[in-house]
Amino acid sequence: MASIRLARQPNDENRIGLMKSGKQKYAETKAKRNHKAAKVESPNKQQERQPRPVLGPPVNEALLAPNNSYGAPDFVYRGYYVNRPFRCVECGKEEVWTGTQQKWWYEVAKGFVYTTAVRCRLCRRKKRQQSDESRRVHVEGLERKARRNRQGSK
Ligand SMILES: [Zn+2]
Repeated sequence: MASIRLARQPNDENRIGLMKSGKQKYAETKAKRNHKAAKVESPNKQQERQPRPVLGPPVNEALLAPNNSYGAPDFVYRGYYVNRPFRCVECGKEEVWTGTQQKWWYEVAKGFVYTTAVRCRLCRRKKRQQSDESRRVHVEGLERKARRNRQGSK
């Protein structure tokens, strides 16, 4: 048993040695890549003086609804909202959730930062009308019940 273990040891050391060199290689290529990126960046600096094209409504992180998850949604990293095409889950219609609508949803309506639009405008309106209607029916039912109770107690 002992002899087998002894025979294995040099191999294990080699393997560790290989792993180390692999990591070093990775670090070297990464450093090279960073160096390249820095070189490319410098000629762009003159262009930065020109006004930046409007990419989308800016994200105001302070206005977002608080969330306990690690990290942040993509628009926070990006710094602005971009139009998001999506397919309505109700009718299958293709629609675009605009950056302006997203800004309103996340910063004014305080929608959870990981929610996105799933229904088209028409289906959203329909759904709202339905919930308004069911609320109205519910309230009317309560009123009728209250009236009946009042009449019953007389
Ligand atoms: Zn729809």
